[in-house]
Amino acid sequence: MAIIVIDPGHGGSDPGAVGYGLREKDLTLDIAAKTCDALRSYVADVYMTRDTDVDMEPAQRAALANRLGAAYCLSIHINAGGGTGFESFVHVNAGDRSLALGDIIHRRVSSFYNSSGFMDRGRKNANFAILRLTQMPALLLENLFVDTARDAIKLAVPAFRQQIANAIAAGLVQALGLKLVSPADQMGGISKMKIDGLIVSDHDSTENITWGTFAAVINRSIGRSSLGDQWNPAGEVAKLKSAGLIFSDHDEKGEVSWGEFATVLNRLRGRSPWDPVAEIQKLKSDGLLDSVHEPVEVVNWASFAGVFNAIRAN
Ligand SMILES: [Zn+2]
Repeated sequence: MAIIVIDPGHGGSDPGAVGYGLREKDLTLDIAAKTCDALRSYVADVYMTRDTDVDMEPAQRAALANRLGAAYCLSIHINAGGGTGFESFVHVNAGDRSLALGDIIHRRVSSFYNSSGFMDRGRKNANFAILRLTQMPALLLENLFVDTARDAIKLAVPAFRQQIANAIAAGLVQALGLKLVSPADQMGGISKMKIDGLIVSDHDSTENITWGTFAAVINRSIGRSSLGDQWNPAGEVAKLKSAGLIFSDHDEKGEVSWGEFATVLNRLRGRSPWDPVAEIQKLKSDGLLDSVHEPVEVVNWASFAGVFNAIRAN
């Protein structure tokens, strides 16, 4: 099984770059943890060099990756110095494989940043210790600039950090050819919804779900819409509201957050509304969810299919 080491830069007495009330060490730890979560559905042993706010020298981080015999080491950092955008680094003496894998991950993460309106500053070379001291292919990502307002505003949003993590995970999946843990279980959930006439097309498990599609699936499951209906996402969201499953309007193209997702599903199950954190806890305590999610985190298709099919099976 491929061993992957995710290295959240800085920590402890070393905050890394700071700006707009943000500290690099906190952002890197959060993005790294979210990346590990995103990789949980894939066949890989994923380790973090640190999972708390502690001091750690680059040499210790590299030694850990070397000792584990990791296939890949990915170091997560946030830039500073007044620029904007995304860049990544391989070691100045990186071998062919490291260059090739680095390019794949860089392209995947860069395409996410481009779609979010941020520039690609390029895949560069540097003599950073973590790159020099690791014996396996390695890449260091500089994710936006913490001291540039436009970048910092985005970095402050947990749901945006989740999207960064998803892009990094997708890059690793592609570069290392990672396979889903159990194709039958993972993709099966989405296929099952298709077979049952709740969705028309296939969806990638890491793709995020929008309000229009979410509403359509729920409406179809309670018989208020059917697959044969003209596709009208705004109308589906309005129907969800008229069914009493949501109380406020949502943009049909907006992404569904975990807090709202849990609330709608619990209302569907006849549980009284409380608050988003409690709603997510309810799904977990009822065995419908493995791990707790931040209410603002965005729901992806794999999670949606998993939780929704579990409810339908009950
Ligand atoms: Zn850094």
